[in-house]
Amino acid sequence: MAETPGSAGSFADRPARARWPRAVLKLSGEALASSSSDETIDARTVRRIASEIAESCDELGVELAVMVGGGNIWRGTTGAGEGMDRATSDTMGMLGTVINALALQDAIEREGRATRVLSAIAMAEVCEPYIRRRAIRHLEKGRVVIFAAGMGNPYFTTDTPAALRAAEIEAGVILKGTHSGVDGVYSADPRRDPGASRFDEISFAEVMSRDLRVMDMTAITFCMDNALPILVFDLMTPGNIRGALTGQSIGTLIR
Ligand code: UDP
Repeated sequence: MAETPGSAGSFADRPARARWPRAVLKLSGEALASSSSDETIDARTVRRIASEIAESCDELGVELAVMVGGGNIWRGTTGAGEGMDRATSDTMGMLGTVINALALQDAIEREGRATRVLSAIAMAEVCEPYIRRRAIRHLEKGRVVIFAAGMGNPYFTTDTPAALRAAEIEAGVILKGTHSGVDGVYSADPRRDPGASRFDEISFAEVMSRDLRVMDMTAITFCMDNALPILVFDLMTPGNIRGALTGQSIGTLIR
């Protein structure tokens, strides 16, 4: 895959339009599935997300890393609920994220942007292992980094590894894309309560005290401890990835 010319360089060289020069995009596996059929990975949906990622990187000069989930393929709690060993079931979930990461890699590269999949579970024939300094180097060279296999440990979802990796690579924000039609953080579930209102901004403490289920609480507390903001936004609206990166008032900023 050819590298994108001129994409390497210091933050000072980049256009000033991006609010966050380096970001982690958390994509749920289900965002890659089809909403109208039972396709686990819907090629058109993946292509649309990939083209937005590639375009945002090209136009804004941002360094973007993606943490992709695996819920469209397997969730650890599903197997555990059926009596499976939890750690085994979670490992299956992590392997699901690798499948999604490869689908995304293929689609982003077909948009002309170089990528690297970095897995927390060693898979030498398929992708690189996650090494923090290498991830940063890839980003500096203009490659989209795709984190696979979460953090490599069971008993987590991909929310907490998204936060962990964001802190490790010194990203300025986690962009948490939603796919359920809920375009931010609300006072109550807007699908059930028509009186629910969306916050433009909310503190970590309030998310916790109101028990608002936007991300795993482990991820929320980690982000609070490390002063890492989270922007919750609707991933399915075209143009929103770019909008989130440029600081348009979409979604809810938790900080
Ligand atoms: N998982 C895990 N450790 C991790 C990340 C993920 O065990 O660090 C497993 C867990 O079983 C989880 C599954 O992988 O249910 C898929 O990830 P997730 O539920 O976050 O997918 P998403 O909801 O984002 O599609």
